[in-house]
Amino acid sequence: MTDVSVAGAGMAGLVAAARLRELGRPVVVREKGQRAGGSMLLSSCVIFRHRDFDEFRAECPGGDPALQRLVWERLDDAIAWLVARGAPVVWEETGNPRTVGKRFDPRGVVEALGTEVVLGADGRVDGPLILCTGGFAASPELVTRYIEPAAPLRLRANPWSAGDGLSLALARGGALTDGMADFYGRNMPDAAWDETELVSLSQLYGRFARIFDEDGVEFFARDAVSWSETNVVAATAKRPGAKAYYVLDEAALGERVRDRTVADMVAAAPAESRVALADLPFAPPEGAVAAVRVIASITHTIGGLRVDERARVLRGDGTPIDGLWAAGVDAGGVATGGYASGLAQALVLGLAAAEDAASY
Ligand SMILES: Cc1cc2nc3c(=O)[nH]c(=O)nc-3n(C[C@H](O)[C@H](O)[C@H](O)COP(=O)(O)OP(=O)(O)OC[C@H]3O[C@@H](n4cnc5c(N)ncnc54)[C@H](O)[C@@H]3O)c2cc1C
Repeated sequence: MTDVSVAGAGMAGLVAAARLRELGRPVVVREKGQRAGGSMLLSSCVIFRHRDFDEFRAECPGGDPALQRLVWERLDDAIAWLVARGAPVVWEETGNPRTVGKRFDPRGVVEALGTEVVLGADGRVDGPLILCTGGFAASPELVTRYIEPAAPLRLRANPWSAGDGLSLALARGGALTDGMADFYGRNMPDAAWDETELVSLSQLYGRFARIFDEDGVEFFARDAVSWSETNVVAATAKRPGAKAYYVLDEAALGERVRDRTVADMVAAAPAESRVALADLPFAPPEGAVAAVRVIASITHTIGGLRVDERARVLRGDGTPIDGLWAAGVDAGGVATGGYASGLAQALVLGLAAAEDAASY
């Protein structure tokens, strides 16, 4: 029996490989980086779906309804599969009334899924192949081409997901989804930070701030900020320098996001990003007491390869390419137009790809 190859040992790749092994199909996992886990290892690891399918559709209206239905319907069983494999649960619920799921310990997920991975290897090989390379967030050229930010976005993810899966599949005739300009990211302090701070330094209080750009234009109303705050990040990416100023009054500083006050989050932002009101490049609004300069960062891309519900990569005419699947962020068309769990997409499509490839 020919080995199935998996390119990428992040969430989707590890899931696909574990499922293939479970189904008795030989598999080789090649990982470009020097460790397994991809962006999942850096993540908060909350794997979730919307509580209500219609809300998912309403929030991500550009997505493929069949793929969305697949992720939504299979996720609870897929999470149970992960738990049964020994992945450690940190929270039994997401803590967000709109969503259902669990938070896992990311290192525990890597261990539970098994670690037989060839490191430092390009996974783009011949033969049956599941692409799980994590999209193109780490390619400044592709981000510029498809997303067209006003200035380069900071990377808030693993450094290896540079569109390798995309380019291989395009060369074999694969089609792209709509929404190639969509991305999931966070506004981060405009300062130096490293991969251990990607979660703790996310500036997730846009909904309480007055939001200005470098030219002093108040470009986003706080009551228009979505619960995930991804819409203000997308808007920030289009402003000069891909930057914004979050300006806060006393009431805003006292607001809470989960277990932290906004004042705590502002205090934790690196000093270079906290701006004295007198140093703002515009007149501060009345009542302002603090300001933080943020920069749009990209975690993962939302547009990608067109796949069907078996995760087979499709051509423009809708026919599948023989022996080629894409899972995780390499596949587009799930969260188009909004925000949904990248880990849920990786988990469900990783299982779907493995189950189809097992009988190839
Ligand atoms: C700070 C942070 C917080 C997050 N929080 C959450 C959260 O709470 N909930 C949620 O749902 N999502 C979250 N995410 C997003 C989530 O981590 C991703 O959506 C998910 O990891 C995508 O899975 P993937 O398998 O597609 O990509 P990844 O997990 O990133 O894996 C891709 C892998 O492919 C490898 N690779 C790239 N090119 C090649 C190549 N040519 N050959 C071989 N290997 C290659 C990469 O090195 C990487 O290991 C977060 C991400 C970050 C960074």
